[in-house]
Amino acid sequence: MTFKVINGKKMADDLVEEVRLEVQQMCEAGHAAPGLAVVLVGDDPASGVYVRNKIRRAEQAGIRSIEKRMSADCNQEELDAVVEALNQDDDVHGILVQLPLPKHLSEERIIRLISPQKDVDGFHPVNVGLLGTGQADLVPCTPLGCLEMLQRELGDLSGKHAVIVGRSNIVGKPMANLLLQANCTITVVHSRTPNASEISRMADIVVAAVGVPKLVGDAWIKPGAVVIDVGINAIELDGKRKLVGDVDYDKVAPMCQAITPVPGGVGPMTIACLMKNTLVAAKRLMNISH
Ligand code: NDP
Repeated sequence: MTFKVINGKKMADDLVEEVRLEVQQMCEAGHAAPGLAVVLVGDDPASGVYVRNKIRRAEQAGIRSIEKRMSADCNQEELDAVVEALNQDDDVHGILVQLPLPKHLSEERIIRLISPQKDVDGFHPVNVGLLGTGQADLVPCTPLGCLEMLQRELGDLSGKHAVIVGRSNIVGKPMANLLLQANCTITVVHSRTPNASEISRMADIVVAAVGVPKLVGDAWIKPGAVVIDVGINAIELDGKRKLVGDVDYDKVAPMCQAITPVPGGVGPMTIACLMKNTLVAAKRLMNISH
């Protein structure tokens, strides 16, 4: 079977360009450009790369970025104070605190402290609740990116059977809610699901968000399915560090209608959706219809 490799980089470029055009229209109408604050605590190299990529994308989208760097040994009160100040700052429409935080700081507390209206990661319990009732406009960026990819690839998703592998708060659960809203029939499988591969093999769409390299092999996939691989796992191969997904790409791809690669699939779309969320938050805070 010939399969299509879904080009996440190209889709992300398209989405960022769409955001840029809307930002341009806002500015031409006399509004301020959206502002995104990114808070980075400590000097974890991977987090540093993510933050740099987000700021670069913000620039491309015409979004002002405000970077707040804090030392790894800052205390909870100092971090709280930074977030509270950003909550009060009218020039800031989106706040993102790069996770994970150093162990002595509470992620749960920070997630709850960010104003729900500026919560461009979509992790605040208010936004989680709104998503569950189909009313959210700030939705976690990774599952939002997966939905965008599926809709741009397949159009209307109504009636499709989607299996989500993984039930984390940041990917699996919000993905299930989004696909349900898109009129899919959904099944979520996880580490305690007996026969997860058999269930997955019934799906028209498989979204793998597990964190186990190449777990989803050919036995998990119905021929002709569309496969979205969220996983990003660093492995050693022939003495070299390599990034692989949660899907065994070489075995699965030839069976698929379409599949996302790792890297170059979901990752770029996640950052593009952060720009989309920042635009949405800014428009709402400035009372511009969207
Ligand atoms: P978590 O570790 O929070 O969740 C993993 C989920 O997978 C859990 O629900 C777990 O089940 C389930 N699971 C583990 N083993 C199995 C198994 N053998 N069979 C079925 N289910 C299993 O991970 P995340 O959701 O945060 O991330 C998943 C992957 O996605 C990671 O590789 C991560 O790096 C990547 N990621 C990529 C992003 C991107 O931008 N592309 C963004 C976010 C994450 P249980 O609940 O029972 O333990």
